[in-house]
Amino acid sequence: MRGSNLRVKLKLNYEEIAKGVTKNIKVKKYVPCTTCSGSGAKDKGSVQNCGTCGGSGQVRRVQNTFLGQMQTVTTCPTCNGEGTTVTAKCTSCKGEGRVYAEETVSIEIPAGVQEGMQLTVGGRGNAGERGGPAGDLIILIEEELHKELHREGLNVAYDLHLSFSDAVFGTQVEVPTIDGRAKIKIPPGTQSGKVFRLKGKGFPGVNSYEKGDQLVQVNIWTPQNVSAEEKTMLEKLGQSPNFKPHPDKNGKSFFDKIRDMFS
Ligand SMILES: [Zn+2]
Ligand SMILES: [Zn+2]
Repeated sequence: MRGSNLRVKLKLNYEEIAKGVTKNIKVKKYVPCTTCSGSGAKDKGSVQNCGTCGGSGQVRRVQNTFLGQMQTVTTCPTCNGEGTTVTAKCTSCKGEGRVYAEETVSIEIPAGVQEGMQLTVGGRGNAGERGGPAGDLIILIEEELHKELHREGLNVAYDLHLSFSDAVFGTQVEVPTIDGRAKIKIPPGTQSGKVFRLKGKGFPGVNSYEKGDQLVQVNIWTPQNVSAEEKTMLEKLGQSPNFKPHPDKNGKSFFDKIRDMFS
């Protein structure tokens, strides 16, 4: 009899998913009994050939039908097809041939896995009774949320907050990515809502050579508290025609951007 499958959840962070990782996880499961090597017998002498089937594990039956003699082969009911019977049971496993224990399993996770994906590791589930083959170990992938980055399929989204003066004068900033930090040049006059695309800085496809991008959206910080002096300066600046909004008619709308962002 084959052992049952075992399911475990495995939480991975973005960095681990981006590169792939080898994880050693502790699993509680049935493992073959080392005392009896999985036979379930107390010793070699207590394993006997099954008297019903003579050790073949199968029984043949001959039936006379109107079509003539028909032979059917079925699993031996005495030994359940094992071919042997145990006269004295192993005391460690009570004859089951397996014991419940904790085992460390090393699993190679390929790059690009996603939340909800299942990986099957053949033969690493519960051991079967009396030397039966083990079931499979099924790993259910869970994604750990990132403090700053947000996954959207193969792409990664990041909100960049810029001061008003940096947006006016332009600057160079460093942003986090799933693979270290990346530099972005912010040109002078950058508008809030502008999206910069870092090509190939997203997640790899798990079964392809595809790679996503990182999308960096600019958010310009509006001061929420200003001093009396700052207030006077801003009021004065507000009079200047340069400070009156005059959006480019050809510029993309909010809706166009949302559509483009993850396409
Ligand atoms: Zn045993
Ligand atoms: Zn038998």
